[in-house]
Amino acid sequence: PLPVVAVVGRPNVGKSTLVNRFLGRRAAVVQDTPGVTRDRIAYEALWNGKNFTVVDTGGWEPKAAGMAASIARQAEYAMKTADVIVLVVDAQVGVTETDLAAARVLRRSEQPVILVANKVDDERSEAGAAELWSLGLGEPHPVSALHGRSAGDLLDLVLDAM
Ligand code: GDP
Ligand code: MG
Repeated sequence: PLPVVAVVGRPNVGKSTLVNRFLGRRAAVVQDTPGVTRDRIAYEALWNGKNFTVVDTGGWEPKAAGMAASIARQAEYAMKTADVIVLVVDAQVGVTETDLAAARVLRRSEQPVILVANKVDDERSEAGAAELWSLGLGEPHPVSALHGRSAGDLLDLVLDAM
């Protein structure tokens, strides 16, 4: 079986857009409406000659009330099934309670967790990503899934972590 990379995070942070970047084609479902991705869609990806499976998660129970519990379950599931976990946070919004709930779970992950500060569309916005150190998951990696900024570097990191 191929190594599995799970992309987790609260709705609308850009998980599906990032998965599209990983795949190099528009395969994952992206929408402005939070909660559009059906839960756990797996795709086969290829980077630097290495094949792996990318799992796009999220989309179930998008109601704000159950969000923290829902994200915790998503993270737990990723820890059970993935070799590398990518936690995506919206750096334009900053750290939310839901991000904290995910981070709390993922801090005890035995698999490597890569923290992504998404929506850092230009160099000017990079400073904002530093706030994500507070999640206790190490260095935040600023990227723009939408424009592809630093996406290649991120993929290199993901593959190194496998
Ligand atoms: P998901 O719910 O986490 O899967 O988020 P989506 O991938 O569906 O993206 C939600 C919204 O954020 C869409 O409107 C995307 O175009 C937008 N988005 C995703 N990545 C970026 C980014 O790097 N920069 C900006 N400015 N917008 C982004
Ligand atoms: Mg999605």
